[in-house]
Amino acid sequence: MYRVRIVSTGHEVLRGQTVDTNAAWLALRATEAGATVRAARTVGDDAAEIAAAIREAAADADCVLVTGGLGPTEDDRTREGLAAALGVEAVFDERAWATVAAYFARAGREPGASQRRQATLPRGTEPLGNEEGTAPGVLGRLGAADVVLLPGPPREMRSVFASAVPARWRATGRLDPTSVRVLWTAGVPESEVAAAIDDLMRSPEPTVGTHPDEGEVAVRVVARGGDADARAAAVASEARRRLGPAVLSEEEGVRVQHAVVRSLHARRLSITPAESVTGGLVARMLVEVPGASEVFRGGFVAYSDAWKHDALGVSRALLAAHGAVSAPVAEAMAEAARARGKTPVGVSTTGVAGPGPDARGVPEGTAFVAAALEGRATRTLALRFSLPRVAVQRRTAVAALDLVRRSLADR
Ligand code: ATP
Ligand code: MG
Repeated sequence: MYRVRIVSTGHEVLRGQTVDTNAAWLALRATEAGATVRAARTVGDDAAEIAAAIREAAADADCVLVTGGLGPTEDDRTREGLAAALGVEAVFDERAWATVAAYFARAGREPGASQRRQATLPRGTEPLGNEEGTAPGVLGRLGAADVVLLPGPPREMRSVFASAVPARWRATGRLDPTSVRVLWTAGVPESEVAAAIDDLMRSPEPTVGTHPDEGEVAVRVVARGGDADARAAAVASEARRRLGPAVLSEEEGVRVQHAVVRSLHARRLSITPAESVTGGLVARMLVEVPGASEVFRGGFVAYSDAWKHDALGVSRALLAAHGAVSAPVAEAMAEAARARGKTPVGVSTTGVAGPGPDARGVPEGTAFVAAALEGRATRTLALRFSLPRVAVQRRTAVAALDLVRRSLADR
């Protein structure tokens, strides 16, 4: 077993102004690598507290990962904290300076006096190169533990980590063989996903967990020890069988928008969204995906009733009869998007994001999405959320894309 502890530093993390994505990212990398994450904690930008946290972590870990506070300013105290934990002074390090100077040279600039702080390391520690920024990482040893200082900005943190840490972990020979599988699902609430795989979740090995993320739910399988790959694959495939069409991908970074773009691309189809409640979010999600231009030319944001009529040609009589937040209007919008966008696929959203009901008394959190495919009956889906405004918008966009995904799969 190889034990990892994570220490996040910075008052803005401690106070909740910065969400600690670094700790989550590092914990996931450690788990996938076959290490065991023992604990993660956060301390402010205070050298004595950082020193205490490093000492405490080093007593119970083979590697302590510390993020943040490696910048050039006075509030960047992590190098000082490590020096205090090690009981050594910080000294100017030529190798670290070379890393700082190299970054400035690439950017066509000269390092200033404040950057010398970034090259001042606890005596006996080593600098770790940083391709993405000026602050070198730092590698030290406290008792039996490696202590690795990583920059706070996520891109720099990931880069220093990737270039220095995994190889060092592997060299110890103490990582457990580990296999991690993910199934991303949409269109089914987490409780139902969990119910379908309840027995798999209760079994102690491989571990199976459900992790909801804004309308999609990840099922993650982690197998440890001998035959980890085969055991994880067997459980993942059983989960896949049970979850059926809800499964949209088996890759960590492939979410509903990626699945839709891939599916359209594979079928040589293109899509036009007409969005009310999501205000362009469906389009925004589509263009997150590299290669979206091959399946997406543009779309409509039709927020008011008048614009639904003027831009999309939704009939005033239909709007008056059913209200804008209704299945018939969602259907008319999706069909108009398809026709006016001259694409084989149209998708629409309409809803009440809240707070509060709309003018007709339709309660907040009510939404309808529709998917119109050439030569097929248009499908609509009624949604009901009890969530804040932005979350309703996000979930509605995910549901619209998922309806497109399922409609394409059934085609
Ligand atoms: P800088 O040179 O920018 O000062 P640094 O290594 O000193 O970098 P911090 O000052 O602690 O790092 O943080 C810089 C920025 O990095 C923060 O404002 C925040 O945007 C981001 N950041 C820091 N810690 C975290 C974290 N744990 N998770 C996510 N982002 C973080
Ligand atoms: Mg800083």
